[in-house]
Amino acid sequence: MNNKLLLLIIDGVPWRNWRSLFGNLEGWVDSGEAQVWKIRAPLPSTSASCYASIHTGVVPAVHGVTGNDNVFRVSQPDIFSEVRKEGGTTGAVTHSFWSEFFQRAPFDPVRDIEYDEADSAGINHGRFHTMTGYGHPNQMTPCDADLFATLTMLTERFGLDYGILHTCTLDSMGHRFKHSCEEMDDACFTLDAQLAPFIRRWRDAGYEIMVTADHGQSERGHHGGRGEDQQDAALYYFGDAEGPAPDTLLKITQLAPTILSRLGVEVPESMTEDSFLTAG
Ligand SMILES: [Zn+2]
Repeated sequence: MNNKLLLLIIDGVPWRNWRSLFGNLEGWVDSGEAQVWKIRAPLPSTSASCYASIHTGVVPAVHGVTGNDNVFRVSQPDIFSEVRKEGGTTGAVTHSFWSEFFQRAPFDPVRDIEYDEADSAGINHGRFHTMTGYGHPNQMTPCDADLFATLTMLTERFGLDYGILHTCTLDSMGHRFKHSCEEMDDACFTLDAQLAPFIRRWRDAGYEIMVTADHGQSERGHHGGRGEDQQDAALYYFGDAEGPAPDTLLKITQLAPTILSRLGVEVPESMTEDSFLTAG
């Protein structure tokens, strides 16, 4: 391990919302502290399928997660497993699907809502939420500021080498209110403002940071299929590495090998995509 990194998955935010509504992130692009590219989700562009692809580097046709009702412990190596092989410390503040994919399934809410397992082959420090009861009239999402604080607590209490945060707030807002509306303007504005002080704090603590989404959404608030609206998001990178040309279209399956490379961890053979960052 020669570096440490935090990955933030802001669920369901399409490219156009990132570039028009996240003023702090865009301001850091202007100041040169962040680089940004467009990144494309695999098919199906369904949340659970994309989570498994983000962390394993393989497409749903390979890992087998066909949708949100088909969640199991995946068999491929992933970022957590490879960091642990190198002795790194991992943490997750996410929806419970991430624990089921990369730690154990099914999710037992009492056993698994929070754990600290020093010898884990996957996630050492997990803090999860299930969104049980989620639907159109009730989002059942935690406050994003609380999630950012929880990840910060894990970094400072346990010295994480790799940590992931995932929040469904904006995906749920899109399903509920769609996109050309005051509710979505305010929701993106609010999340950006809540996130920004933590970006500064994590950078000061020596972390590289990636902020992105698992997929986009159409104007009707849909995703799962093909199309720039449903599949494309932005990826913001804070760190010293060199990236590709600004107009390069990244693939979500490049995230896992790129993150492992940045951490100084060997990339397993199952991750066949190239890293999009080179040592800087
Ligand atoms: Zn999603």
